[in-house]
This record gives sequence, structure tokens and C-alpha cells, in this order.
Amino acid sequence: MAERTRFGPAGVPPMFRLMGADLPDVPRLLREEGLDALEYEAVRWGPKPQITKEHAEELGASAKENDVRLSLHGSYYINLSGKREVVEASKRRLIASATAADWMGAYVMVFHTGFYGRFEKDFAFKTCLDALKEVSAEIRSRGLRVKLGPETMGRKFQVGSLEEIMTLCQEVEGTQLVIDWAHLYALHQGSLKKTEDFRAIAEKVESRLGSEAMRSMHCHFSKIEFTLQGEKRHHTLDEIRYGPDFRMLAEVIADFQMHPTMICESPILDVDARKMKETLRQVLESKQSKV
Ligand SMILES: [Zn+2]
Repeated sequence: MAERTRFGPAGVPPMFRLMGADLPDVPRLLREEGLDALEYEAVRWGPKPQITKEHAEELGASAKENDVRLSLHGSYYINLSGKREVVEASKRRLIASATAADWMGAYVMVFHTGFYGRFEKDFAFKTCLDALKEVSAEIRSRGLRVKLGPETMGRKFQVGSLEEIMTLCQEVEGTQLVIDWAHLYALHQGSLKKTEDFRAIAEKVESRLGSEAMRSMHCHFSKIEFTLQGEKRHHTLDEIRYGPDFRMLAEVIADFQMHPTMICESPILDVDARKMKETLRQVLESKQSKV
């Protein structure tokens, strides 16, 4: 079957919890809403998986049955650019997340690489690159199939500009490009104002990593509020005073025949994921009628 753009929430939608849904019920509920992706949030995890293997496998089986693509968001407590002991602890957390991701059959483990801290930018980045290579080797030696997904970040003190993330994807084996469009928007103080701005990013990715990496990127999307330091708060798609505008990205998805996995990080997760799916449908339809 041809690849397609998939949509889903970052975490279990609050309404599902109110309904008393258990984790393995979530993929079915998403499918009933017309969604086909889910990012499992392991963002508060320490050095051990905080889900049992059995439970993770149940989620994985249910996702497969309902054609929901799983990804996993690893721990926020990661700094691959810090002091030696911090980097070692971060690596253990990444391995724990990757282990659980493998249990549930998640295709990518998304994570935030770290902070510059007191270090020179170049030195901090090199530390991060070396640590990530070690994590990649360890994951492969354990036979874990999940890809490592370093994410573009939204604050100036964080490692994770688009350039840095593309370099990590180029240099480290078993990686998957993760673009958080809201973070890019916030980091660059509201860039991405026109469809051409989105197009330029897709072209940059294509020239560095190739067409398939560009077409199959893993994405986070929501509207966002920012300060001079970057990201402040995620917002819903209907709040007109905030950006970026998903329709512009949908134009680029259509023009470049992309098939990204779009994870919605707005405060109303699944509701806005459905809105994005509908927007892409409209864009594709209007382009087809022009042919
Ligand atoms: Zn993230």
C-alpha cells in the first residue's frame, strides 16, 4: 500500500481518559475518529521503562490491528551535551525508552538532545553527536529496531536547530528526522509566514538528506506563543493570533508528495489532529480539481 500522511495526537486524548479507556483501547478509539497515528508519551521516565512489557505489547498489537502507527516520545530528562555523568544517565534513559518503544513496535523514539549550558556551542554539539553514536551502537547491539528521532527545538539554549538535527541524522546510523514546526516558528521569532517558507525547509532537507527523508519526516505541529528566548506555550489551531498556519504546510505536503507522520501537540490533541487531516484533504482535492 502506498505511504500516506498520517495524523494523531501526542499522548492519550483527555476525553478518552474520561471515558475510562485503557491504553490498549486507544488505537481503536483513534481509528473511530479517523486518525491513524499515536505518540506514546514517556516524557517523565527515568532509567527504567515505566510500562510493563506485556502492557506495551498489548498496545502494539492493538495499534497494528487498527492501523495506527506508533511513535514514542522519550524522557525530557536528557542532556547529551552535559557533563560526563549527566550524559551517561541520559544514555540510560534513552535506552530505557528505546526498549519500551521496541516492545510496542513504535517506529521512532523522539527525544530532545540537550542544552548548551556553559559550553561553547561547537563543543556541546560534538559531545551530543558522540553520545548519540554510542546510543545508536548500543541500540543495535541489543537488537532494538526503533529509530532514534532527535527533534528540532524551540528555545535558544537548547541543542536542536534544523542544521544540527540534520547533521545528527547524517552522521548517526538508525536516525529519523523529526521536525517540530511550532518549535522552528518560535525559535526564529515567527518565521514560516508564507507557504514559501515551509517549502524552503522541505527543499533544505531534501538537499541534505535526500527525497525520501524529506517525504517521510516525522512531524510535531501546533500553534505556539513565543518570547525572545523562543517557545512559550502551545495553542490550538483556531487561535488566529498565533502561528504557524497548517494550511501552508499542507500545500507543501501536497506539492512534494510527502507522507509524513503528523503528531498534533495542541491542547486539544485529537480534535486538532482531525482538523489538520481535513485541511490536507481539502488542499489535495483543490489541487486535483485544477489538474
Ligand atoms: Zn518533543
